[in-house]
Amino acid sequence: MNEFQLIEKFFKQPKKNAILGIGDDAAIIPKNEKDCLLLSVDTLSIDSHFTKQSDPYYLGWKALAVNISDIVAMGGVPTFALLSLTVEDINKKWLSKFSQGIKACAKKYNVELIGGDTNRGSMSVSVTIIGDSPRKNVLTRSAAKINDDIWISDEIGYAHLGFALSKHGPTMSNCLKKRALQAFLKPEPPMNFILDNKKYMHAAIDISDGLVSELEHITVEQKLGAKIDVDSIPMHKWFKEHNNQELALTGGEDYQILFTANKKNRNKINNSLKKNKLKGGVIGTITNSKKVEFEHKGKLVNYKKGGFKHFG
Ligand code: ADP
Ligand code: MG
Repeated sequence: MNEFQLIEKFFKQPKKNAILGIGDDAAIIPKNEKDCLLLSVDTLSIDSHFTKQSDPYYLGWKALAVNISDIVAMGGVPTFALLSLTVEDINKKWLSKFSQGIKACAKKYNVELIGGDTNRGSMSVSVTIIGDSPRKNVLTRSAAKINDDIWISDEIGYAHLGFALSKHGPTMSNCLKKRALQAFLKPEPPMNFILDNKKYMHAAIDISDGLVSELEHITVEQKLGAKIDVDSIPMHKWFKEHNNQELALTGGEDYQILFTANKKNRNKINNSLKKNKLKGGVIGTITNSKKVEFEHKGKLVNYKKGGFKHFG
């Protein structure tokens, strides 16, 4: 049983008053007639997501950033956050750095920390985030249309390289090392780009669990398909030189946004990517085939590792 089957079996319920319940990056609830609230919670736990050696500043940053990513993926503006913190003991130096990290991220995205919970125990950091969006253009995973362009907001794969580096991974140039660690430790969801362009977007999802796995959520689960041109997926040349594009496609923790849009908006979206200094682009098309096909150097390829899963 993987985590999605677990949620489906034990927790999925028909929605009553929510606009959208379990199943997307954030839940949607009514705020007033025009607007809605977006809610999500994400936890980082010791040994699964970080270790005792992890830099507390970046842990603080990341705990909030991964939650902001869920709001951004829904086309929302993050507004408030609650922090639930479990620590083994009071280490003032650690707490000081951790709090600086989370506050720096909150400042960058204009999020207000309004509450939380503190406990003693095995370390974990859980953030609940609240965001805002007009009801009429909130983005969901299920709104892709046949023949839509499929886009990614920036290059992918850096975070996985950064993760590998934190475990004494592959050799690479110092410049790439820096970029990879930056992506892994200090993700920056592309909020301004998404807010500027959501009027052109149909479906959207963050690729926290890896591109291959997240693509399934916006296609096959919606009885649609996709044709992806692997050679057009923006990634550092390291992946091509090592013939390991699969790593970039299946490695998680890239807090970039996968989205679909009508082909007629291609130029406008491309111009906005440039303006926001993002190296994203079109990587494929939504089809009616109910499967995701990856074409690499003119041949169909299969990527078996379907992204990061906690179980199964
Ligand atoms: P993400 O990768 O964006 O954090 P998840 O894969 O954790 O999302 O969760 C998928 C969906 O299932 C989300 O809508 C989430 O709110 C919901 N979900 C996850 N765990 C639970 C749970 N224990 N109870 C109810 N809903 C859950
Ligand atoms: Mg998500």
